[in-house]
Amino acid sequence: MGLRILLNGAKGRMGQAIAAAAPELGLSIGAATDVGDNLGAALEKCDVIIDFSSHQATSALLELAVARRKPIVIGTTGHAAAEKAKLLQLAAQVPCVWAGNFSVGVNLLFALTRRAAGVLGNDYDVEVVEMHHRFKKDAPSGTAARLLEIILEERKLTAKALRHGREGITGERQPTEVGVHALRGGDVVGDHTVMFAALGERIELTHKASDRGIFARGSLRAAQWVATQKPGVYDMQDVLGLR
Ligand code: NAD
Repeated sequence: MGLRILLNGAKGRMGQAIAAAAPELGLSIGAATDVGDNLGAALEKCDVIIDFSSHQATSALLELAVARRKPIVIGTTGHAAAEKAKLLQLAAQVPCVWAGNFSVGVNLLFALTRRAAGVLGNDYDVEVVEMHHRFKKDAPSGTAARLLEIILEERKLTAKALRHGREGITGERQPTEVGVHALRGGDVVGDHTVMFAALGERIELTHKASDRGIFARGSLRAAQWVATQKPGVYDMQDVLGLR
């Protein structure tokens, strides 16, 4: 019999997208739970947990996963830093994939950005441009923030190097600057471009999301992968072999 998944947060946007995508990967949802359902009983019938619910649910869910020794995939976001540090200790007792972005394409973009920033060196100016729908409340996006972290790590720069937009008499661009630009409009699900520009050539790495099915399929792939791993906390770079 194939892998049986316990899907927590099943009634939400991501829960529904995961249930819709599961058959494509030959996987079945053994139990679907949401607010108020009995997780313990549901877990009896399942081999692995996928959670896209609320950050308030994570602690109890992890305790149950540890008690029953079940692998788990966590896509839920919004944990405060101190809360997350405690949860990670618990998560490390079982095989756990925890990622803020389950898109295979975005995770490849992270790896390509690290490689390009390392190979191209400081005479290639780096700028990150992202675009999202008009309803988005924060900027830059979490994915852009991760791209910037990678660039800063590779170039051994601190957050002081970030230049959010430009206006007026800015002076010439400094080689240590990393530009960040957030565009907003319409119904764009999420576009990210990392641009490396030198004198005489330019390289652009672009990812465009148009459907939340990409996160659903990535989380299902993570569930298949984590089911055969040793206890520990992994992310999508591990699942995709990009580390
Ligand atoms: P949503 O509001 O549409 O759905 C959340 C579901 O979880 C709802 O059905 C809700 O009733 C249920 N829920 C809330 N508390 C619960 C609890 N204690 N126990 C069980 N179920 C509970 O939200 P969504 O858009 O589906 O997103 C869910 C989470 O996934 C959010 O934290 C979001 O940021 C995150 N997310 C992550 C990624 C990623 O790639 N990692 C992608 C998209 C969304």
